[in-house]
Amino acid sequence: MPAPKRKPAAAAPSAPVANTRASKLEKLGLRTDIDLVLHLPLRYEDETEVVAIQQAGMMGASVAQVEGVVTACDIQYRPRRQLVVTIADDSGQLVMRFLNFYGSQTKQLAVGTRVRARGEIRHGFFGAEVVHPNYKVVLEGAPLPDVLTPVYPAGEGLSQIFLRKAIADAMHNIEWRDTLSPAQLAAQQLMPFENAVRLLHNPPPEVDEHALEDRSHPAWVRMKFDELLAQQLSLKRAQVARRAKNARALSVVGKLSAAFLNTLPFTLTKAQQRVVAEISADLRASFPMQRLLQGDVGSGKTVVAALASAQAIDSGYQAVLMAPTEILADQHFRKIAAWMEPLGVRVAWLTGSLKKKEKLAAQAMIESGEAQLVIGTHALIQDSVQFAKLGLVIVDEQHRFGVGQRLALRNKTVSENGGNDSIPNTAAAAAVPHQLMMSATPIPRTLAMTYYADLEISVIDELPPGRTPIVTRAVDQSRRDEVIARVHAAVQDGRQAYWVCPLIEESEALQLQTATETYAMLVEALPDLRIGLVHGRLKQAEKQEVMDAFSAGACHVLVATTVIEVGVDVPNASLMVIEHAERFGLSQLHQLRGRVGRGSAASVCLLLYQSPLGYIAKQRLMTMRETTDGFEIARRDLEIRGPGEFLGARQSGQAMLRFADLATDQWLVDRARDLAHALLQDPTPANQATVSTHLARWLGGREDFLKV
Ligand code: ADP
Ligand code: MG
Repeated sequence: MPAPKRKPAAAAPSAPVANTRASKLEKLGLRTDIDLVLHLPLRYEDETEVVAIQQAGMMGASVAQVEGVVTACDIQYRPRRQLVVTIADDSGQLVMRFLNFYGSQTKQLAVGTRVRARGEIRHGFFGAEVVHPNYKVVLEGAPLPDVLTPVYPAGEGLSQIFLRKAIADAMHNIEWRDTLSPAQLAAQQLMPFENAVRLLHNPPPEVDEHALEDRSHPAWVRMKFDELLAQQLSLKRAQVARRAKNARALSVVGKLSAAFLNTLPFTLTKAQQRVVAEISADLRASFPMQRLLQGDVGSGKTVVAALASAQAIDSGYQAVLMAPTEILADQHFRKIAAWMEPLGVRVAWLTGSLKKKEKLAAQAMIESGEAQLVIGTHALIQDSVQFAKLGLVIVDEQHRFGVGQRLALRNKTVSENGGNDSIPNTAAAAAVPHQLMMSATPIPRTLAMTYYADLEISVIDELPPGRTPIVTRAVDQSRRDEVIARVHAAVQDGRQAYWVCPLIEESEALQLQTATETYAMLVEALPDLRIGLVHGRLKQAEKQEVMDAFSAGACHVLVATTVIEVGVDVPNASLMVIEHAERFGLSQLHQLRGRVGRGSAASVCLLLYQSPLGYIAKQRLMTMRETTDGFEIARRDLEIRGPGEFLGARQSGQAMLRFADLATDQWLVDRARDLAHALLQDPTPANQATVSTHLARWLGGREDFLKV
């Protein structure tokens, strides 16, 4: 079954805007009057004052508005075609240059016309000058606006003037009821909704412009609070809805779990024991678990996943583990099958590269229930795969999957009466499998709280004993020869090395070429070593062959494109070289570095870079040198990039926060969460009304994605 379709938007709470313009507005997500009213300015322009031309020129390069009468208007051809218009007031004259212009502008700006122009006015060699000013034709004595002029986010084909008008109309139409009561406003020290909105659209000239700009003004605070409150309400409601769903209680921690723990060659760390207990408790519940297991690279998440699966199997249900790449899925399969098969567990393997016959056989095992544990890639979410009695879904490196893909896997179970329960709501009694997501990309607390309020979170905050910390160095690529010597020395010591080729986002072909060249270069420079090359274009079997040789120690140096990024586990590798490290993001660098430092040998990560480094790249490399703590790295990444990019569009869905900024508004998140909690905790009619009007106002039909 395909993932359920997104439901159409809920009925608009207020009248839709006029049809003719609707499509352009719709592109901006503006469907209703309230959407328009909440389309707040990006910034403001001060058109409330006109200064004398002479004075404007004197103010350096700052923006000013002047008014004058056109004294000349010509198209000139040197140095290139341009419209040159001169205006004059009592104090002096100003030359306005337009490099792009319409023929009609020569008529509009005919000599004798009075205009107001606003722009960056400079005193040049030939007097005051401005390039591409905003201007409008006015009559003498036309009144100046007495509020700042808002500048709105606008899509193609939408003018500011049109948006201003549409928003003004919408403000006229809507019902201005505050969703919060006067008592709540007082308690939270918030500005009333109407005042805040009106101020933001039309700020009076005496307003603190700086506070508007950095969004610390009380009017902005109100908007951010409302936005965060809507988000928290919606997430908490999703949580309540989840708890109302049915799941199979996986209540037996029995023979298999015990035998498995006994055969493990190591004992679990304290942190692993803790998260295993948390997961185990969730699995016993008769509503679906939704848990994120965070643990730094190498912290030992796989064994935790295996234990959770053992509980599902002990309880008579199937478990499935999905990984984002074939290499990783294969590694999981080998490792877990080696653990489980001797204990009598039937493990099935399903990926896209299987032959048709093998695929069919695997599917049959899955459908009949013979396969107790299933491991694979995206191939698992194809329509043809059906589980007999799926109790637990585990998604490794969950951030590599889209929301839809995770949902699809969760919905893949055939219900006991033979029907399919992948359509939520219709079959209230159908059981939803428990879900465990794993990630080595730690999500900082702030983000976890706002985006994943309906996720329980378990954290492995301890590495298995005996690891030595990785030493990281940034090395200018002019010193490549020294780096090659290092690789040689590591291999002489009986170790292995990774050499990661530069990421070339714009071209896979180029990336491939670079990888091949790097490989050739190393083969030539290190004739006594065995060197392997793995990249995305290889067939699965070829990839596997290279990886196997590397795992077995038969190959000393593995040259790789970023295909090795996730999960690969070769404890004897102790040197990681990353070329053009400045092109990688922080979490990628951290993941790559995590491929070493898995054994007892002291490991080294060398980040080769090409100077000069830009600011962000410098910050990233510095962070990598300073810390190996994934949580700290994630926190800095958030600082450097901001939450939007951090989560990536695929994860965050559409309801990205528009106004609140998680880096600076944590205090508001806390308050919004508390109020959301209070409102839902005490469902008086008044509180219920608050919740529903607030959600309608802020989320309209966009609530869906939050539920995944
Ligand atoms: P990740 O959390 O990055 O997925 P893995 O599950 O691949 O980490 O574990 C990394 C390595 O540590 C594996 O070789 C695994 O067998 C080993 N390991 C896991 N837990 C322990 C432990 N408690 N003691 C010793 N080694 C462990
Ligand atoms: Mg892993």
